[in-house]
Amino acid sequence: MTLRGCRSARVLCASVALWGMLATDAGAQPDFGEMQFPSPPPATAIGGYARGCLGGAVQLPADGPAWQVMRPSRNRAYGHPDLIAFIEALSKAARAQGWDGLLVGDLAQPRGGPMRSGHGSHQTGLDADIWLTPAPQRTLPAEERETLSAVSLVAAGGEDVDARFWTRDHVALLRTAAGFPQVERIFVNPAIKRALCAAERGDRRWLAKIRPWWGHDQHMHVRLRCPRGEAQCTDQSPVPAGDGCDADLEWWFSAEAEEELAKRRATPARKLTIADLPAACRAVLLAP
Ligand SMILES: [Zn+2]
Repeated sequence: MTLRGCRSARVLCASVALWGMLATDAGAQPDFGEMQFPSPPPATAIGGYARGCLGGAVQLPADGPAWQVMRPSRNRAYGHPDLIAFIEALSKAARAQGWDGLLVGDLAQPRGGPMRSGHGSHQTGLDADIWLTPAPQRTLPAEERETLSAVSLVAAGGEDVDARFWTRDHVALLRTAAGFPQVERIFVNPAIKRALCAAERGDRRWLAKIRPWWGHDQHMHVRLRCPRGEAQCTDQSPVPAGDGCDADLEWWFSAEAEEELAKRRATPARKLTIADLPAACRAVLLAP
């Protein structure tokens, strides 16, 4: 039995999975990257965004009334129920603003945790990548969801958005997303933040939540606060006061920022193991 065909019979599947690990490598640690289905409820976000896991995850359906999940073969469309509810609400709001729904990228793995590729965070089921490429008016077939490319909104040189693709609809979508009280911050490319700073003529408070970061030129990375009452979830320190359209933003266009990026690329982050995560993540990993 393959793990992929193993969604319904949880207990049996878990033993197949564990046996597979033991059989292939007696010393191998089970790995969040090979988990194919969530641990049992209740939903629990454990630890920090870049050092945690997720119990009782919920899968975002591949097709919603106003969204389509991209790269479904990665099996990373799992989240805390708060995140799933947020995507439902944001995609509905986006549709009301004229978007043909949203294309949704990675959320979390079935049990959250560190990924083998792609993200440092997205570990607690509270992070979501949402494409800034407008969705087509049709339902994409599975194959296209794997191959369709997102479009960069940042012009060559990285200083500004690309006028061919950047629209007022992007400003409206980001403003709407930041307006949800459960949204803690949204990472975008510095050039996108710069464009938002220039575009907003009204209430600028929402701009505080828009945080510049490398990459993020094709999607926004939305991060929710820890769900109310979940004591095992660790929040990040709050975003600085003010709209952030200041020297802090300009730093991202400096030689120093370029050097910092080069340094980070030269020293990739150490791979996390179960020992690096909160103790409760072991139970999430080993649950049937
Ligand atoms: Zn992300």
